[in-house]
Order: sequence, then structure tokens, then C-alpha cells
Amino acid sequence: MSATAVSSTRHDWTLAEVKALFEQPFNDLLFQAQTVHRAHFDPNRVQVSTLLSIKTGACPEDCKYCPQSGHYNTGLDKQKLMEVQKVLEAAAEAKAIGSTRFCMGAAWKHPSAKDMPYVLKMVEGVKALGLETCMTLGKLDREQTQALAAAGLDYYNHNLDTSPEFYGNIITTRTYADRLETLAYVRESGMKICSGGILGMGESLDDRAGLLIQLANLPEHPESVPINMLVKVQGTPLAEEKDVDPFDFIRMLAVARIMMPKSHVRLSAGREAMNEQMQALAFFAGANSIFYGEKLLTTTNPQATKDMELFARLGIKPEEREEHGDEVHQAAIEQALIEQRDSKLFYNAAV
Ligand code: SF4
Repeated sequence: MSATAVSSTRHDWTLAEVKALFEQPFNDLLFQAQTVHRAHFDPNRVQVSTLLSIKTGACPEDCKYCPQSGHYNTGLDKQKLMEVQKVLEAAAEAKAIGSTRFCMGAAWKHPSAKDMPYVLKMVEGVKALGLETCMTLGKLDREQTQALAAAGLDYYNHNLDTSPEFYGNIITTRTYADRLETLAYVRESGMKICSGGILGMGESLDDRAGLLIQLANLPEHPESVPINMLVKVQGTPLAEEKDVDPFDFIRMLAVARIMMPKSHVRLSAGREAMNEQMQALAFFAGANSIFYGEKLLTTTNPQATKDMELFARLGIKPEEREEHGDEVHQAAIEQALIEQRDSKLFYNAAV
């Protein structure tokens, strides 16, 4: 298949075609992915996001990879929904270290009516700081997606995790159809979609291909596609899973790049365990987004300075915000923080 043939946006991928992409020689696959990447992106720019866990642990879902599930004992420090003010302070710090997008994650099955006003305040406040906003809150209904979009939420993260066939081996408390329904509501509301999956859960090549087919064959490709390497956490059922061959992980990034040529492919959880050479190879394969600094939900993440050093050595620059390359003046940040503090909309889940 020529690079030209694969650089167009398609929504009709078959399993045989995708497996053929995976199974070609490594150098051929990387060359093709890099060619597609260069047709749509500056190859020396990587988008940088910061992720904050705004409510941690005690999740009623049973995702077998997740230390936040209330079904497993992982010794995780549980935290109620953070105060709006604290979230905004973290967002201002993220902006100061160069992040353009601030992602807020809550370990919920779905947000409750009681939580929604606080969540909406967080979106409005982070947006006012001049950052792109992203949230992951679990299943949403139509009204919730519309409220989040109206508050200024740019992206909603909702991962499909794996293929429909393998999904029941990993999660039993919700269905694949539930996930697709939320993604459809998000798209309908006008927000952008962030959706991807995890490698290293015992899935087959067909499952990896099947996940990418689900994402690429959506009516519109997700704008952001996080590809995670399982972080094995003691106490979760997947703690003893076999390691993924690093080259197979790079193959996954490359095939994602080819199938979704205009999406940002994010090198996501598991990056800390990757050496710099592997991260460089991931960027060559078409990954062009990372989380950096602070904590990636409940797993540690390489520090921002280390990431910036690697970028400098590779000649990579952080991508500017799509809509607003402009800098928000520090005074505007401070003003937004003061306004939020004065609103007294602090959350205490015990209330
Ligand atoms: S992955 Fe999300 S939904 Fe699943 S247990 Fe963890 S926090 Fe809950």
C-alpha cells in the first residue's frame, strides 16, 4: 500500500487490511507512518497536555487495569472531588510550564446531578485561563454533554480500551455499547473526542487491530487518540500480565497514525517506563502528543524538565494552542483565580 493511498481519511477499515499494516516489516511500517505524519503535521511539534485527577479512587467500575476501581485493594489514597479553586491553581501551574491543554479526570461511573455544577465551574475557570479543556468523568447522558459543551469543554476523553470482543475480559460493569453511546452524545454536542486504548492486558493482535478499527470507523475520527502501555499495579487483576514487546507498542502507534492521519496520537500512560530512545521512536512513528509534568491520574509521569530536555535534544517544540497562539497575561490568570475564590463554590463531598 503506498503512503498516498493511506494518507486519506477513511472510515471503512477491515481487519485484514489493518493486520496487513501491523505485519509488514518494521522499517516499512515506520516509513509509511512518518510519510503520513508529515502530510498532516509538523513532524517536529508535539502537543503537551497536563492531567489532573480531580476525584480519585472508589470507582464502582471494575476495569481490571485500574488502581482506582473500588473492586481492588491497591492501597490508593482516595480523594473526594477537589475544590474548584484548587483545580484552577493546578491549571495555572500547568499553563506556566507550557501545557496547552488541561485534562481533568474523575473516577466515576457517571457524574451525579450534585457534582455537575462544580464540574461546570471547573471547565469555565480553566477555559478563562486560556487553556484548552478536557474532562473524563465516565458515562454521560445527552443533557450532560450539552451542559459541558456550553460551559466551554473542548474535549471529552472516553476510552474504548480494547476491541469489542475482548472488552468483557477487562470490564464487566458496563458495555462497549455504553461507551459508543457516550461518544455519540459527545460528538453531537460539538465537543472533540479523545478516545484510545491500552496495550498489555493480554489482548491479541486482532484485538489491537479491532480497537483501531472501532476508532477509525467512527463517523469522524477522534481528534485525540491516546495509546497507553499498561502500568501494572499490584492489587489489580492485571498486575502480573506479560510485558508488551516495545516494538509492538511502536507498531500500534504507527498503525494508529496511518489509520487516523489527522488525529493527535498520544503517547500516554506507561511513558515513564520507556527510555528516551523508545520515546524518540514513538515520535518518529507518529505520536505527537504527550502528558507531562505532575501526575498522570494515579501513575507517576516523567517530570516536565526531563521532557523538555528530551524535546531539545530531538529538536522538537511544544505545539501551540490551535485556536489561540496568544499568551494570556499573568494578570488575567490571577484575576480568574480571584474570581473563582470569591465565588465560594468550593466542593466538599461530605456536604
Ligand atoms: S478506568 Fe475509570 S471507570 Fe474504570 S475503574 Fe478506573 S476510574 Fe473507574
